[in-house]
Amino acid sequence: MVAKPLMTTVSDDIPACAGCGQCCHLLVELAPLVDDVPEEMVVEHAGVRCMDQHGDGACVALDPLSRLCTIYERRPQVCRDFQRAEVLCRRAIGRGYGPAASPALGSHPEA
Ligand code: SF4
Ligand code: SF4
Repeated sequence: MVAKPLMTTVSDDIPACAGCGQCCHLLVELAPLVDDVPEEMVVEHAGVRCMDQHGDGACVALDPLSRLCTIYERRPQVCRDFQRAEVLCRRAIGRGYGPAASPALGSHPEA
């Protein structure tokens, strides 16, 4: 499968998305009747379908070498909506999130 970068726009103080992938360590909740990701990449947390994660919090769809999404064409809506250089991007870059500390992208956590 061909992977594509999430976004490529350059900003003054934010790295290019290609090769970053820090936001792909946040918990991604799937939208019922909207998202259509490979079922083997899905887990349930308290009845909520989410993208599965590795022990370091990385989404299982994130290529560990290129740090690009391997299901780019089928990525969840919340991943499509994620905005580079906004609050969650800056938080993701500023600190590492493991599964226990991860805010959920689908629940739109406050800054
Ligand atoms: S954390 Fe920000 S810069 Fe890094 S991949 Fe995500 S949106 Fe792009
Ligand atoms: S589905 Fe793709 S874009 Fe979304 S968190 Fe996983 S690797 Fe990142």
